Amino acid sequence: MYNDPRSHGLWEKTAPQPPATAALKGSVAADVVIVGGGFTGQSAALHLAERDINVVLLEAREIGFGGAGRNVGLINGGMWVMPKELPGVLGETYGERLLGLLGNAPLLVRDLVEKHAIPCEIEKNGTLHCAVGEKGLREIRERCEQWAERGAPVRVLDAEETARRTGTTAYSGALLDTRAGTIQPLAYVRGLAAAAQKAGARLYTDSPVVATERNGGQWVVKTPNGSVTAKWIVVATEAYSTGPWQVVRDEQIYLPYFNFATRPLGDNLQKSILPGREGCWDTKEILSSFRMDKAGRLVFGSVGALRGTGAAIHRAWAKRSLKRLFPQLGDTEFECEWYGQIGMTDNAVPRFHKFAENVVGFSGYNGRGIAPGTAFGKVIAQHVLGEITETELPLPLTEPKARPFRALKEAYYEAGAQIAHFAGERF
Ligand SMILES: Cc1cc2nc3c(=O)[nH]c(=O)nc-3n(C[C@H](O)[C@H](O)[C@H](O)COP(=O)(O)OP(=O)(O)OC[C@H]3O[C@@H](n4cnc5c(N)ncnc54)[C@H](O)[C@@H]3O)c2cc1C
Repeated sequence: MYNDPRSHGLWEKTAPQPPATAALKGSVAADVVIVGGGFTGQSAALHLAERDINVVLLEAREIGFGGAGRNVGLINGGMWVMPKELPGVLGETYGERLLGLLGNAPLLVRDLVEKHAIPCEIEKNGTLHCAVGEKGLREIRERCEQWAERGAPVRVLDAEETARRTGTTAYSGALLDTRAGTIQPLAYVRGLAAAAQKAGARLYTDSPVVATERNGGQWVVKTPNGSVTAKWIVVATEAYSTGPWQVVRDEQIYLPYFNFATRPLGDNLQKSILPGREGCWDTKEILSSFRMDKAGRLVFGSVGALRGTGAAIHRAWAKRSLKRLFPQLGDTEFECEWYGQIGMTDNAVPRFHKFAENVVGFSGYNGRGIAPGTAFGKVIAQHVLGEITETELPLPLTEPKARPFRALKEAYYEAGAQIAHFAGERF
């Protein structure tokens, strides 16, 4: 996108074309204007348009330009916070509601993909949270126990089964979650957009919202060459937020995350590495993730930005890591590389904000946005429709607040990842 091969990498190369869109020109009227064309915005647009609501969606750049088109493609159930800890963070009522919503969110993704026949390489064999050493094993056992108590289809695999499924003996076990899976994320968000458009939503790209104004009981939402008048504004700009809702981005600390994709592997390698196509990540503090795409490319990622000295350092580390994890690969050449910014909130829990009357949005997904974004988009649609009141939402209302020392912390994460990867996997 925008001639930047390091922004959307493999996903840009293999996703079907997006639906035809253009920039907004002139004034239009709608019931609801949605700002942001990622999973949250497209899901909200689809769910509203299906109910015959007059919807306009404004995207600053292209569909999937933000996290939606840059991510790993792991469809996760739940969040980083342990299930039992969540009621402690949010209170019993909201904790339970959020767990219910997010635990079922992967099923919503599956249903939408099926219902709208979205071609997005969805794999439904689950994810493997791979344990490193005894400490990692303790962590995944605890997580498994807590999800199992809630009836989730999870189990801990021993080292042998983990090795058989992943193709590496590096892990002491893994938590298999069969609610979860993998997806081609840009293809998915483009498919959601096509479904929303078909249902009647009007989608505009290259249309950044630069200002809003109150006019009677209506909002006037302005882009450089046009405006939309509507009763409601749904803010779905998340970590890539610009313009009037910059505070959504400023409330989060950016954690950069990169991915490298190999060329399609030969048949024998595809039989030995992830033959079941589960999506994987590990329990390390600076974590790594790996998964296959449909053509059999191994996609390997970790924390870091592919810019400046980072590009060469992280690339060399990724090659050393793959060699250690999968000696059967030999020396690896990468076909694509890309990175993006994950927005992290201070307690690793998403947010619900009401910026003004009838201006609402969810954000702060902490690197878990495919299933949650889809689910939050549906919930915000139900809220706008009057089916879920503010106090019935899965998150409490909070004031958006810019994080102190944000730039310093972000520089620390980016430099820290370079130092760790410069030294890592050498011996
Ligand atoms: C590298 C990386 C790896 C990740 N891996 C995973 C993963 O494996 N699994 C997972 O579940 N999640 C993952 N995530 C997180 C996930 O991608 C995000 O949480 C998700 O994209 C959020 O969806 P969204 O629709 O809310 O926001 P986005 O997808 O970020 O979309 C927001 C959109 O709003 C637009 N926008 C911003 N400001 C304006 C404005 N003023 N006017 C108009 N438009 C505007 C942006 O251009 C952008 O397209 C990852 C994220 C990154 C960056």
